[in-house]
Amino acid sequence: MSEFKNFINGEFVASASGKTFANRNPVDDSLIGMVHEAGQAEVDAAVQAAKDAMQGPWGKMTQAERISLLNKVADRINERFEEFLDAECKDTGKPRSIASHIDIPRGAANFKAFSETLANHPTEGFMLDTPDGKGAMNVGHRVPKGVIAVISPWNLPLLLMTWKVGPALACGNAVVVKPSEETPATATLLGEVMNECGIPAGVYNVVHGFGPDSAGAFLTANKDVDAITFTGETRTGEIIMQSAALGLRDISMECGGKNPGIVFADCDIEKAVEGTMRSAFVNCGQVCLGTERVYVERPIFEQFLARMKEEVAKLKLGRPEDSEANFGPLVSQEHKEKVLSYYRLAVEEGATVEIGGGVPDMGAELNGGAWVEPTIWTGLADDARVIKEEVFGPCCHIRPFDSEEEVIHQANDTDYGLCAAIWTENSSRAIRVAQQMEAGLVWVNSWFLRDLRTSFGGAKQSGIGREGGVHSLEFYTEQKNICIKL
Ligand code: NAD
Repeated sequence: MSEFKNFINGEFVASASGKTFANRNPVDDSLIGMVHEAGQAEVDAAVQAAKDAMQGPWGKMTQAERISLLNKVADRINERFEEFLDAECKDTGKPRSIASHIDIPRGAANFKAFSETLANHPTEGFMLDTPDGKGAMNVGHRVPKGVIAVISPWNLPLLLMTWKVGPALACGNAVVVKPSEETPATATLLGEVMNECGIPAGVYNVVHGFGPDSAGAFLTANKDVDAITFTGETRTGEIIMQSAALGLRDISMECGGKNPGIVFADCDIEKAVEGTMRSAFVNCGQVCLGTERVYVERPIFEQFLARMKEEVAKLKLGRPEDSEANFGPLVSQEHKEKVLSYYRLAVEEGATVEIGGGVPDMGAELNGGAWVEPTIWTGLADDARVIKEEVFGPCCHIRPFDSEEEVIHQANDTDYGLCAAIWTENSSRAIRVAQQMEAGLVWVNSWFLRDLRTSFGGAKQSGIGREGGVHSLEFYTEQKNICIKL
């Protein structure tokens, strides 16, 4: 059985209070190991270690030296690929075929992606006329913010954590990471990699635990944390913002979504089915960018629905190591209960269950796991809770529409604004509709196609701020202006 300890100042540290909690495998509910919960003392020690690291060798390194170390980290994750893959699949239950293409390689790549942005981003400069005719020169200068708290979720644990840790460290900060209580393994393993690669002690710290009255709340309340970057539910984001208000600390928030997919009759229907299948069902529907509301132009509604049902029926549920399987369990029993409560609610609200809607029979060995059926509904009213609230499970509602104007209104009729996917072969329409989406990301004829140089983040209740490329640079550094009188 494994033990997951906190990683503080380059060392693995047990919980001082002796408090531990179980980490379970959602495939069959078996025990993976025990996690050491960080109390106030461990969290404070981690923040202090990070603060001290900023004054040590890390704070004095050149950008090139830091980048070279981070490149080593990326390479070492790839060398220990199988261990990271195994850890991620045990924690989440997701198919190895998915984690080996997305979670681990992209998690590693995040340590390399920002070096070019850093190296090539120009600084701002302005000449100012002065009454004595000699002028002044203004030069922009970026410095690290200091100690960054990274609070991350369980759906893509390594990828979403390194998406923040990579640029934060590239910019010269030190971090304290609070991974989700559901998925402590890869953040812990990364501690070993940091030591192996010679990242100075205190630059990367991990504290395990929960949110309220636990590591998450202790971390965000610590006044020596200079900025907080968070990915998770909108409700949690609201609580963290209140903590960040103390001491006026900066925040970056990547929160929930209830994303629309819009399928016009002039689309390439097979492309639209393939993309919508991925966006609704990959990672068992546990992707913030996932499509839970699908709007299909009436002339192709029946055909599209029939094709989606055919494809859902082909999804192969199975253990991570089953090479044929492309659909795993949900992350936990608790999340299974939440998703099933929405499955029941959809029926109460008048949905027609087109396919799925329940719990699959996985056989005696796996029936204790967090399995649910991939599900498609039709027939819900626009104001149904299932249309308004994020389920974060393998499900979508498909509804017909008659005009571009109508569907733009329906797609935007939500508190969220993370992303939208538009399927059409008419490029004028694609641009026109994309411009009107109230969302931070819009895909046309694709989904989840990411260029790491571009901005990532949500509008409305899906988040605050943008990360990615130069936007990460802006969040993870403090811009100062140096004015030199000539
Ligand atoms: P969550 O909000 O429950 O938890 C996220 C993290 O916050 C966890 O580490 C948790 O322990 C911590 N936390 C909880 N309460 C806290 C508190 N009071 N103080 C400090 N930390 C606290 O989210 P989750 O269930 O882990 O993840 C699923 C959610 O994340 C979904 O809503 C999904 O849409 C969202 N998400 C968004 C993005 C994005 O980029 N916008 C990406 C992935 C997931």
